[in-house]
Amino acid sequence: MGLRRTSWVQLYALCRRAPLSTAPAAREQPAAGPEAEPVCGPAETARPPVPAVDFGNTQEAYRSRRSWELARSLLVLSLCASPALLARHEQLLHLARKLLGQRLFNTLMKMTFYGQFVAGEDQESIRPLIQRNKAFGVGSILDYGVEEDLTPEEAERTEMESCSSALERDGRGVSKREKQFQAHRAFGDLRDGVTRARTYFCASEAKCDSHMETFLRCIEASGEARGSWEGLTGTRVEAQGWHPQLQFSDVLTKWRRFFHHVAAEQGKAGLAAVDTKLEVAALQESVVKMGIASRAEIEDWFTAETLGESGTLDLLDWCSLIDSRTELSRHLVVPNMQTGRLEPLLSQFTEEEERQMTRMLQRMGVLAKKASQAGVRLMVDAEQTYFQPAISRLTLETQRRFNVERPLVFNTFQCYLRDAYDNVTLDVELARREGWCFGAKLVRGAYMAQERARALEVGYEDPINPTYEATSAVYHRCLDYVLEELKHNARAAVMVASHNEGTVRFTLRRMEELGLHPADRQVYFGQLLGMCDQISFPLGQAGFPVYKYVPYGPVMEVLPYLSRRALENSGVMKGAQRERQLLWQELKRRLCTGSLFHQPA
Ligand SMILES: Cc1cc2nc3c(=O)[nH]c(=O)nc-3n(C[C@H](O)[C@H](O)[C@H](O)COP(=O)(O)OP(=O)(O)OC[C@H]3O[C@@H](n4cnc5c(N)ncnc54)[C@H](O)[C@@H]3O)c2cc1C
Repeated sequence: MGLRRTSWVQLYALCRRAPLSTAPAAREQPAAGPEAEPVCGPAETARPPVPAVDFGNTQEAYRSRRSWELARSLLVLSLCASPALLARHEQLLHLARKLLGQRLFNTLMKMTFYGQFVAGEDQESIRPLIQRNKAFGVGSILDYGVEEDLTPEEAERTEMESCSSALERDGRGVSKREKQFQAHRAFGDLRDGVTRARTYFCASEAKCDSHMETFLRCIEASGEARGSWEGLTGTRVEAQGWHPQLQFSDVLTKWRRFFHHVAAEQGKAGLAAVDTKLEVAALQESVVKMGIASRAEIEDWFTAETLGESGTLDLLDWCSLIDSRTELSRHLVVPNMQTGRLEPLLSQFTEEEERQMTRMLQRMGVLAKKASQAGVRLMVDAEQTYFQPAISRLTLETQRRFNVERPLVFNTFQCYLRDAYDNVTLDVELARREGWCFGAKLVRGAYMAQERARALEVGYEDPINPTYEATSAVYHRCLDYVLEELKHNARAAVMVASHNEGTVRFTLRRMEELGLHPADRQVYFGQLLGMCDQISFPLGQAGFPVYKYVPYGPVMEVLPYLSRRALENSGVMKGAQRERQLLWQELKRRLCTGSLFHQPA
């Protein structure tokens, strides 16, 4: 097994030379045709005033829904609210399938949970729902929601194997990774306690290729379904492969921590990362002292050309120096703050691992290229904290390459993380400096229970904000920062992916204050299918770009997804109770006004 050294620059050169199936051009262009033209930027014609949005007007909110659909929503959401049912839902589903047989069970599911949260079995059958939502101003983000049918043991084994590097597995490399970034058998089944779409297990390159094919079909379907709208689709980096994601995340985190460590030494602890500027002379001392580079090397790193004349350096300068001046395998040597020495994390990547990483970047490139051709924006989902630094980093590389004229690729930021504000602001600042278009989806975060349990069990600091209120405050702070950016930069865009009415109201108020008009299509809203129609539809009817995440797939294959929807509606979501109230209110209204047989027109 040969060992190799690769820099990001070389890696990207490689990706460009050896695409998987679609040859990406050196500078990626948006799709041809008027519909695919950049839609951000103030519209030139006079714009209608922004209508007020009333989230309490149930008649308007449910205009697109028949009464039996409202009754089904009420039934399903009420069942989800029962802790006793939820605790036993898997056994109950199993029993129902045994008693009813597969066909009747499928029918029952379609009349209830599946009908509520899933659009249909395939691209053909979901069309009517997509068209109807569109007629009421709500777009679709297609998500083929099939999960591999692995037992928890199989899922665990696959994940344990794929998350350790070859050198660790064959005993030639001793892992110095922090606990957070080591694979743990108890948390090998990534689906445990998770409340969102599908989970991918990358057991082989062939598996990753087949995941990519799935995403390509989704992009195609989104392109066909969008009509004159801006198409959106979701994707997951972890489905594209590259096994040592944990290792890479560890390395990125440690280099970042080193920057903060030096900042603290210079008396700059506690500042937001984007505002922290290190004195270069003192930083050079620390770098030399720790043996990261020799004095001669370090002087070559910090030139007026790379840093300007300020004599200070921030985290972005630091990361870009690390990228361009060091080779990737040297990233595997990380500063140990306790001993004040550099330590090899693992000697190097194997050739095979490098190939895997290259192919992962290529797959992302193929998807982005396809999305660009189809006039569809690509939303990269965020995952657990121990994968997320690597995912973000790979997404960033794809953004640099494809967000040339408009924000084609969106990264996702989870605001339940303590470092969310740093993550968002640094990326905004990086996009400004490098001149690419910033695109972000802001979410609160779906893995809270799993993250907390893992941190407690494994013994590291809980990465999640201590309270729900703290998470909401961070969400609004990040959103505010991004909206300010949008005001000054017509080529940036954000999706407010939340079911929280307060957050949506906050966004509308700030948009008004900042003069961000919905016709500029810089601010998107996103909710999941079957959840919080009372938010999506009033927004859509008022002219705001709003999209539902629309999963589809055969009944048995989306069952794990349905389980998680049920769990999410049980209590984590603050809006679930309000939704039930509004549904009930509308059903009563229709009953009293004789409009029970309402037909959506
Ligand atoms: C279109 C769309 C795309 C999404 N994509 C992703 C994605 O890529 N990655 C991802 O992780 N999630 C994703 N999600 C899910 C999202 O992160 C949330 O789980 C979900 O939307 C609930 O948050 P909310 O703002 O809608 O509702 P709310 O009810 O306001 O918030 C609930 C959320 O608050 C947080 N929270 C609750 N209690 C506490 C507490 N005690 N302490 C700290 N925080 C707490 C949790 O994040 C919880 O999910 C997506 C959601 C949507 C609608």
